[in-house]
Amino acid sequence: MYISDERAFELIAKYGSPLYVYDEAILRKSCRDMHDLLPEKKLRVNFSAKANSNPELLKIVMDEDIDVDAMSPGEIFIQKYAGYPAERIFYIGNNVSKEEMMYAIKENVLVSVDSLSQLESFGQINPGGKVAVRFNPGVGTGHHRKVVTAGKKTKFGVQKDFVPQVKELIAKYNLELVGIDQHIGSLFLEAEPYINGVKSLLEIAKEFPGLKFIDMGGGFGVPYHECEKRLDLKDLSDKLNDVLDEFLAEYDNKDVIFKIEPGRYIPAECGLLIGEVYSVKENYDMCYVGTDLGFNVLMRPVLYDSYHAVHIAKKDSSSERITASIVGNICESGDIIANERDMEKAVEGDIVIVGNAGAYGYSMSSNYNCRLRPAEVLIGLDGIDRLIRRRDTFEDIIRNCSEI
Ligand SMILES: *Cc1c(COP(=O)(O)O)cnc(C)c1O
Repeated sequence: MYISDERAFELIAKYGSPLYVYDEAILRKSCRDMHDLLPEKKLRVNFSAKANSNPELLKIVMDEDIDVDAMSPGEIFIQKYAGYPAERIFYIGNNVSKEEMMYAIKENVLVSVDSLSQLESFGQINPGGKVAVRFNPGVGTGHHRKVVTAGKKTKFGVQKDFVPQVKELIAKYNLELVGIDQHIGSLFLEAEPYINGVKSLLEIAKEFPGLKFIDMGGGFGVPYHECEKRLDLKDLSDKLNDVLDEFLAEYDNKDVIFKIEPGRYIPAECGLLIGEVYSVKENYDMCYVGTDLGFNVLMRPVLYDSYHAVHIAKKDSSSERITASIVGNICESGDIIANERDMEKAVEGDIVIVGNAGAYGYSMSSNYNCRLRPAEVLIGLDGIDRLIRRRDTFEDIIRNCSEI
């Protein structure tokens, strides 16, 4: 929790609750960690912007010499809005309509397809064009089964045995395969699963001489739990370097660019979520701290049983501790931010600060229960806070409805 309790109260008084707060200095530091991962290699970092696509944050990421991955035409749109030129955007499609593909092609954004059927569609609408293919190397990783995005039980990527069919389609439509990519899953804190995934991808790369880039995917983890150790970037870098050296010794294009696609790693730690305590109650021996942090605001705990560190900023100076669950205001019993934790004893009017909320926080928020999505605030390098997205209003809720 990089802000003081006093600052948390000030921010809520100024902008309302709940509130996402980001720190520019921490965001820039995370960008540099990734940017400098492989100093001896030609490395480009693509930020997987689905983790957080606030245009002000995208601008900072762009300023740190980091490119972006888009998962949808909407992401291409918001990235261009933030100032990204087309050549720095990479559209990694999954089950994309021809209209969506066409949108990317017209915007001059490179498309990665992730099935033979999508490669065929791409060839039909853009014969002779440049394309990338996402492979599934047959190994996956992840913090929860829902975020393992390669291996034998997932919808993603082209199975590696289908290399001959990929070659046939490339030839049939006279396409130029400029790169191959993969993403094996989210949130690894040890180098090994990533290195294994990279090795498998490099085996596939050898089948395609002359590639301009090989994109090894994202998944770089941050410690959410107080007891987790940080990902050892030096160790990862050394291991990756060796594997890539071995590959380059055999590969024809010595200038091939290696890419990584960190999503979470870039904005997770710069973000906090702040909410207010409205009710504290005992319910059959369990203490519930009732807040405005429903899962419409932060969905990860409900979706993936994710752990987020929490801190109670107190109005008074008591230091009593209790075991309690911090819950939201949504009408579902799974609406729990922190389950049966040991924590500072909260009372009405205290504030809850949730750590590592910068990734998959606001970007997954919704209007469920007709709740308003929160505001977002950025603390700049000068320490001054400013609003970078206003809170929803009731008008936003009915914006797309027919008139009654
Ligand atoms: C989501 C995603 C990423 C980023 O995942 P993180 O775990 O947030 O690093 C990278 N590549 C692709 C294709 C993705 O879908």
